Amino acid sequence: MKAVYFDGKKALFKADYPKPAALLEKGESLIRILVSAVCNTDKEILKGYKPDFKGVMGHEFVGIVEESDDKTLLGKRVVGELNDGCGHCLYCQTGRERHCPDRRCIGIANADGCFAQYMVWKNRLLHVIDDTIATEKAIFTEPLAAALEIPTQVHIKPDMPIAVIGDGRLSLMVTQVLALSGACITVIGKHKQKLSLFESYANTTTQAEGSYEIVVDATGSASGFDTAKALVRKGGTIVLKSTYAGQLSVNMSDMVVNEITITGSRCGPFPPALNLLKRGLISLPEITLYPLEAFEEAFEANVFKAGFLISQ
Ligand SMILES: [Zn+2]
Ligand SMILES: [Zn+2]
Repeated sequence: MKAVYFDGKKALFKADYPKPAALLEKGESLIRILVSAVCNTDKEILKGYKPDFKGVMGHEFVGIVEESDDKTLLGKRVVGELNDGCGHCLYCQTGRERHCPDRRCIGIANADGCFAQYMVWKNRLLHVIDDTIATEKAIFTEPLAAALEIPTQVHIKPDMPIAVIGDGRLSLMVTQVLALSGACITVIGKHKQKLSLFESYANTTTQAEGSYEIVVDATGSASGFDTAKALVRKGGTIVLKSTYAGQLSVNMSDMVVNEITITGSRCGPFPPALNLLKRGLISLPEITLYPLEAFEEAFEANVFKAGFLISQ
C-alpha cells in the first residue's frame, strides 16, 4: 500500500509498504483511510520532536472499518483517539490512559499512523461519525477534542476575560470552544488576515497588551510562553497548548510570587467534539487535500489545513 514513512530523520513516500493485518480477537479493526490531515505535531516530528519514532506518520484521520470483531463498527465511518495505553499501570487504571508511560500513539510512538491507505487500531479508541457530518468536517475531530480539553481542566467563568495567543488552526478551535461559555475573549495574533477568521467569536489584536484571568498559549512555539506570562493576572492561569522541539528558559520565581497556575493541556474528549460538529456549533475553513505522493507539498502548504485524500 501507499504510505508516508518517517525513518527517524525524514519523511519518505513508499508505494509498497506492507498492508497491516488486524488482530480481530485482540480488539483491533482494519480501517481503510478516506482522508487524513497534517497536524503541527507532524511537522515537529520532522524537526526532531520524537527522535525515537520510526513508522507511518499521521494521527488525524477519517476512515471506514473494513474488518472488526465489533459488529457495530463494521462498514462505519470512524475517527480514532491517538493513545493506546498498556491497560495495567496506575495511569491506565485511573482513567489517565493518555498518560500511560508505555502507551502507543499512532504516527507518534510505536504505532503506524494514518498517512497510508490502511491502518489498524483498537476498537475501543474508535468513534462512529454521525451520517450528517461530512468527512471534510469530521477530520477536525481530534484537534477540536484537544481544544475541549481546556474546559475539562480549568473552570471557565463567563465573566472572566480570556486571552488566546496565536492565530492558527488550534487557536481558532480553542477560541470557538471557549466563546461558547459567553466569556469575553481576546485573540492576539501576528497576521491581520488570519485574525479576520476570529472576528465572530472574539476581539482580535496584533498587540500583546492588557491583563487576563486565563491566557491560552496556542502559538505552537516557545515564544508563546513569554507573551502569556506578560498577560496573565496575578493568581491567574496559563494554559499551555504548544508542543515544540526545543527548550525554554523561564524565571519560575515570578510564577511563585504571582501565584500563577500553569496547566499543560494536550488531547481531549472525542464525543463532545463530534457533538459540536453535528450541531453545527463550530465553523472552520475547508481542508485542502493532496495525494499521498505530494506529501512534501502538503507539509509545506500555506493553507488553513492540509491533508490527504486517500480513498473515496
Ligand atoms: Zn493533531
Ligand atoms: Zn498503562
